[in-house]
Amino acid sequence: GHEFVGTVIGVNSSNKKENDFIGKRVVGEINIPCRVCETCRNMPKHCPSRKVLGISQKDGAFADYLTLPVSNLHVVPDEVPDEEAVFTEPLAACLEVLEQLKISPSNSVAIIGDGKVGLLMAQLMADLGHKTSLIGKHEDRFLIVEEFGVETYLPGQMNEKVDIVIECTGSKSGINDALSLVRSRGTVVVKSTFYGLGTLDTSKVVVNEITIVGSRCGPFEPALRILAQKRLDTLSLIEKKFPIEQAKEAFEYARGKLKVLLTF
Ligand SMILES: [Zn+2]
Repeated sequence: GHEFVGTVIGVNSSNKKENDFIGKRVVGEINIPCRVCETCRNMPKHCPSRKVLGISQKDGAFADYLTLPVSNLHVVPDEVPDEEAVFTEPLAACLEVLEQLKISPSNSVAIIGDGKVGLLMAQLMADLGHKTSLIGKHEDRFLIVEEFGVETYLPGQMNEKVDIVIECTGSKSGINDALSLVRSRGTVVVKSTFYGLGTLDTSKVVVNEITIVGSRCGPFEPALRILAQKRLDTLSLIEKKFPIEQAKEAFEYARGKLKVLLTF
Protein backbone atom coordinates (compact mmCIF):
# COMPACT_ATOMS: atom_id res chain seq x y z
CA GLY A 1 0.00 0.00 0.00
CA HIS A 2 1.31 3.43 -0.88
CA GLU A 3 -1.82 5.62 -1.03
CA PHE A 4 -2.47 6.43 2.61
CA VAL A 5 -3.35 9.07 5.15
CA GLY A 6 -2.29 8.86 8.78
CA THR A 7 -1.34 10.74 11.91
CA VAL A 8 2.28 11.31 12.96
CA ILE A 9 2.89 9.81 16.41
CA GLY A 10 6.65 10.24 16.68
CA VAL A 11 9.65 11.87 15.02
CA ASN A 12 13.18 10.53 15.44
CA SER A 13 14.79 13.97 15.53
CA SER A 14 15.46 16.83 17.91
CA ASN A 15 14.71 19.35 15.17
CA LYS A 16 11.86 21.60 16.33
CA LYS A 17 10.37 22.02 12.86
CA GLU A 18 10.31 18.27 12.28
CA ASN A 19 8.75 17.66 15.69
CA ASP A 20 5.93 20.03 14.76
CA PHE A 21 4.62 17.19 12.59
CA ILE A 22 3.67 15.17 15.67
CA GLY A 23 -0.11 14.91 15.92
CA LYS A 24 -0.59 16.19 12.36
CA ARG A 25 -2.65 14.34 9.78
CA VAL A 26 -0.36 13.70 6.82
CA VAL A 27 0.08 12.05 3.46
CA GLY A 28 3.52 10.98 2.28
CA GLU A 29 5.53 10.94 -0.92
CA ILE A 30 6.50 7.39 -1.70
CA ASN A 31 10.02 7.75 -3.13
CA ILE A 32 12.77 7.61 -0.53
CA PRO A 33 16.00 8.80 -2.17
CA CYS A 34 19.48 8.36 -0.70
CA ARG A 35 20.05 12.15 -0.74
CA VAL A 36 23.81 11.77 -1.31
CA CYS A 37 24.30 10.54 -4.88
CA GLU A 38 24.78 12.67 -8.00
CA THR A 39 21.21 12.03 -9.23
CA CYS A 40 19.75 13.13 -5.90
CA ARG A 41 21.08 16.66 -6.40
CA ASN A 42 18.64 17.46 -9.19
CA MET A 43 16.10 14.67 -9.35
CA PRO A 44 15.91 12.65 -6.14
CA LYS A 45 12.81 10.88 -7.43
CA HIS A 46 15.15 9.10 -9.85
CA CYS A 47 17.80 8.14 -7.27
CA PRO A 48 19.10 4.74 -8.43
CA SER A 49 19.18 3.46 -4.85
CA ARG A 50 15.78 4.82 -3.85
CA LYS A 51 13.30 2.82 -1.84
CA VAL A 52 9.63 3.13 -2.68
CA LEU A 53 6.95 2.84 -0.02
CA GLY A 54 4.91 -0.31 -0.45
CA ILE A 55 6.57 -1.03 -3.79
CA SER A 56 10.31 -1.55 -3.43
CA GLN A 57 12.43 -2.32 -0.34
CA LYS A 58 10.13 -0.41 1.99
CA ASP A 59 7.10 -1.85 3.77
CA GLY A 60 3.97 0.07 2.94
CA ALA A 61 0.72 1.27 4.42
CA PHE A 62 -1.14 -2.00 4.98
CA ALA A 63 -0.10 -1.76 8.62
CA ASP A 64 -0.97 0.05 11.83
CA TYR A 65 2.32 1.97 11.67
CA LEU A 66 4.76 2.94 8.95
CA THR A 67 7.86 5.11 8.82
CA LEU A 68 8.90 7.74 6.29
CA PRO A 69 11.44 10.58 6.27
CA VAL A 70 9.83 13.79 7.55
CA SER A 71 10.82 15.42 4.26
CA ASN A 72 8.34 13.11 2.51
CA LEU A 73 5.38 14.29 4.60
CA HIS A 74 2.70 16.83 3.73
CA VAL A 75 0.12 18.05 6.22
CA VAL A 76 -3.43 17.48 4.99
CA PRO A 77 -5.64 20.61 5.11
CA ASP A 78 -8.66 20.32 7.44
CA GLU A 79 -11.03 20.68 4.48
CA VAL A 80 -9.78 17.38 3.05
CA PRO A 81 -11.29 14.33 4.79
CA ASP A 82 -9.34 11.05 4.97
CA GLU A 83 -11.42 9.56 2.15
CA GLU A 84 -10.23 12.32 -0.19
CA ALA A 85 -6.69 12.60 1.18
CA VAL A 86 -5.91 9.06 0.00
CA PHE A 87 -6.16 10.39 -3.55
CA THR A 88 -3.26 12.82 -3.09
CA GLU A 89 -0.71 10.40 -4.54
CA PRO A 90 -2.63 9.44 -7.70
CA LEU A 91 -3.70 13.06 -8.24
CA ALA A 92 -0.06 14.15 -7.87
CA ALA A 93 0.80 11.58 -10.55
CA CYS A 94 -1.79 13.25 -12.80
CA LEU A 95 -0.29 16.69 -12.12
CA GLU A 96 3.14 15.43 -13.13
CA VAL A 97 1.92 15.60 -16.74
CA LEU A 98 1.54 19.37 -16.31
CA GLU A 99 5.05 19.57 -14.86
CA GLN A 100 6.42 17.78 -17.91
CA LEU A 101 4.48 19.11 -20.89
CA LYS A 102 4.17 22.53 -22.38
CA ILE A 103 0.41 22.36 -22.53
CA SER A 104 -2.03 25.17 -23.25
CA PRO A 105 -5.75 25.29 -22.41
CA SER A 106 -6.64 25.15 -26.10
CA ASN A 107 -4.93 21.76 -26.51
CA SER A 108 -7.41 18.91 -26.89
CA VAL A 109 -6.75 15.95 -24.62
CA ALA A 110 -7.86 12.33 -24.71
CA ILE A 111 -7.35 9.95 -21.81
CA ILE A 112 -7.32 6.22 -22.48
CA GLY A 113 -8.29 4.04 -19.54
CA ASP A 114 -11.13 4.44 -17.04
CA GLY A 115 -9.33 3.23 -13.95
CA LYS A 116 -8.72 5.48 -10.98
CA VAL A 117 -5.90 7.50 -12.58
CA GLY A 118 -7.70 7.81 -15.93
CA LEU A 119 -10.87 9.13 -14.29
CA LEU A 120 -8.92 11.59 -12.11
CA MET A 121 -6.87 12.73 -15.09
CA ALA A 122 -9.99 13.33 -17.19
CA GLN A 123 -11.60 15.38 -14.41
CA LEU A 124 -8.43 17.40 -13.94
CA MET A 125 -7.95 18.16 -17.64
CA ALA A 126 -11.59 19.16 -18.06
CA ASP A 127 -11.35 21.36 -14.95
CA LEU A 128 -8.35 23.12 -16.52
CA GLY A 129 -10.44 23.99 -19.56
CA HIS A 130 -9.22 21.41 -22.05
CA LYS A 131 -11.58 19.80 -24.53
CA THR A 132 -11.33 16.40 -22.89
CA SER A 133 -12.31 12.91 -23.98
CA LEU A 134 -12.12 9.63 -22.09
CA ILE A 135 -11.94 6.25 -23.77
CA GLY A 136 -12.82 3.40 -21.43
CA LYS A 137 -14.40 -0.04 -21.23
CA HIS A 138 -16.71 0.60 -18.26
CA GLU A 139 -19.75 2.65 -19.29
CA ASP A 140 -20.99 2.65 -15.69
CA ARG A 141 -18.00 4.82 -14.75
CA PHE A 142 -18.52 7.45 -17.45
CA LEU A 143 -20.90 9.57 -15.36
CA ILE A 144 -18.03 10.30 -12.92
CA VAL A 145 -16.33 12.37 -15.63
CA GLU A 146 -19.29 13.41 -17.80
CA GLU A 147 -20.33 15.75 -14.98
CA PHE A 148 -17.10 17.62 -15.72
CA GLY A 149 -17.97 17.96 -19.41
CA VAL A 150 -15.75 15.09 -20.50
CA GLU A 151 -16.86 13.30 -23.68
CA THR A 152 -16.81 9.54 -23.17
CA TYR A 153 -16.26 6.75 -25.67
CA LEU A 154 -16.03 2.99 -25.68
CA PRO A 155 -12.86 1.64 -27.39
CA GLY A 156 -12.94 2.21 -31.16
CA GLN A 157 -15.75 4.78 -30.99
CA MET A 158 -13.68 7.95 -31.12
CA ASN A 159 -12.61 9.12 -34.58
CA GLU A 160 -11.35 12.64 -33.98
CA LYS A 161 -7.59 13.10 -33.46
CA VAL A 162 -6.37 15.12 -30.48
CA ASP A 163 -3.26 17.10 -29.53
CA ILE A 164 -2.36 15.09 -26.45
CA VAL A 165 -3.23 11.52 -25.51
CA ILE A 166 -2.62 10.38 -21.95
CA GLU A 167 -2.41 6.62 -21.68
CA CYS A 168 -3.65 5.32 -18.31
CA THR A 169 -4.77 1.82 -19.24
CA GLY A 170 -2.28 -0.19 -17.21
CA SER A 171 -2.03 -2.55 -20.18
CA LYS A 172 0.50 -3.29 -22.90
CA SER A 173 -1.77 -2.31 -25.77
CA GLY A 174 -2.49 1.16 -24.40
CA ILE A 175 0.37 2.97 -26.09
CA ASN A 176 -0.61 1.77 -29.58
CA ASP A 177 -4.22 2.78 -28.96
CA ALA A 178 -2.85 6.18 -27.97
CA LEU A 179 -0.80 6.43 -31.18
CA SER A 180 -3.92 5.93 -33.28
CA LEU A 181 -5.70 8.81 -31.50
CA VAL A 182 -2.99 11.46 -31.51
CA ARG A 183 -2.65 14.00 -34.32
CA SER A 184 0.58 14.41 -36.30
CA ARG A 185 3.27 16.09 -34.18
CA GLY A 186 1.11 15.47 -31.12
CA THR A 187 2.20 14.03 -27.78
CA VAL A 188 1.48 10.72 -26.12
CA VAL A 189 1.99 10.56 -22.36
CA VAL A 190 2.49 7.05 -21.01
CA LYS A 191 1.43 6.37 -17.42
CA SER A 192 1.19 2.57 -17.46
CA THR A 193 3.75 0.19 -16.07
CA PHE A 194 3.38 -3.56 -16.42
CA TYR A 195 5.44 -6.72 -16.21
CA GLY A 196 7.24 -7.79 -19.37
CA LEU A 197 7.80 -5.96 -22.64
CA GLY A 198 5.16 -4.29 -24.76
CA THR A 199 5.22 -3.65 -28.49
CA LEU A 200 5.24 -0.25 -30.13
CA ASP A 201 4.27 0.80 -33.66
CA THR A 202 7.48 2.78 -34.17
CA SER A 203 6.70 3.61 -37.81
CA LYS A 204 3.64 5.52 -36.67
CA VAL A 205 5.82 7.43 -34.19
CA VAL A 206 8.33 8.33 -36.90
CA VAL A 207 5.97 9.10 -39.78
CA ASN A 208 3.60 11.20 -37.66
CA GLU A 209 6.48 12.76 -35.67
CA ILE A 210 4.93 11.88 -32.32
CA THR A 211 6.53 12.81 -29.01
CA ILE A 212 6.28 10.11 -26.36
CA VAL A 213 6.67 11.10 -22.71
CA GLY A 214 6.93 8.68 -19.80
CA SER A 215 5.35 10.00 -16.61
CA ARG A 216 5.40 8.80 -13.00
CA CYS A 217 4.98 10.36 -9.53
CA GLY A 218 4.19 14.04 -9.16
CA PRO A 219 3.97 16.99 -6.74
CA PHE A 220 1.87 16.56 -3.56
CA GLU A 221 1.34 20.19 -2.54
CA PRO A 222 -0.70 21.26 -5.59
CA ALA A 223 -2.63 17.98 -5.37
CA LEU A 224 -3.60 18.81 -1.78
CA ARG A 225 -4.61 22.34 -2.81
CA ILE A 226 -6.85 21.00 -5.57
CA LEU A 227 -8.44 18.52 -3.14
CA ALA A 228 -9.00 21.31 -0.60
CA GLN A 229 -10.67 23.42 -3.29
CA LYS A 230 -13.15 20.57 -3.91
CA ARG A 231 -12.61 20.84 -7.63
CA LEU A 232 -12.67 17.10 -8.33
CA ASP A 233 -14.97 14.22 -7.46
CA THR A 234 -12.78 11.65 -5.73
CA LEU A 235 -15.42 10.15 -3.44
CA SER A 236 -17.22 8.54 -6.40
CA LEU A 237 -14.07 6.50 -7.01
CA ILE A 238 -14.34 4.72 -3.64
CA GLU A 239 -16.19 1.45 -4.06
CA LYS A 240 -16.01 0.10 -0.51
CA LYS A 241 -14.22 0.31 2.84
CA PHE A 242 -12.98 -2.67 4.83
CA PRO A 243 -11.41 -2.86 8.29
CA ILE A 244 -7.86 -4.25 8.15
CA GLU A 245 -9.08 -7.45 9.83
CA GLN A 246 -10.95 -8.19 6.57
CA ALA A 247 -7.95 -7.45 4.34
CA LYS A 248 -8.26 -10.80 2.53
CA GLU A 249 -11.88 -10.14 1.57
CA ALA A 250 -10.91 -6.59 0.61
CA PHE A 251 -8.29 -7.83 -1.86
CA GLU A 252 -10.71 -10.31 -3.39
CA TYR A 253 -13.33 -7.59 -3.71
CA ALA A 254 -10.85 -5.05 -5.11
CA ARG A 255 -10.10 -6.97 -8.32
CA GLY A 256 -11.29 -4.83 -11.23
CA LYS A 257 -12.59 -2.15 -8.87
CA LEU A 258 -11.60 1.51 -8.63
CA LYS A 259 -10.59 2.34 -5.05
CA VAL A 260 -11.07 0.13 -2.02
CA LEU A 261 -10.05 1.53 1.36
CA LEU A 262 -8.60 -0.34 4.32
CA THR A 263 -9.29 1.29 7.67
CA PHE A 264 -7.30 0.87 10.90
ZN1 LIG B 1 20.46 9.14 -4.46
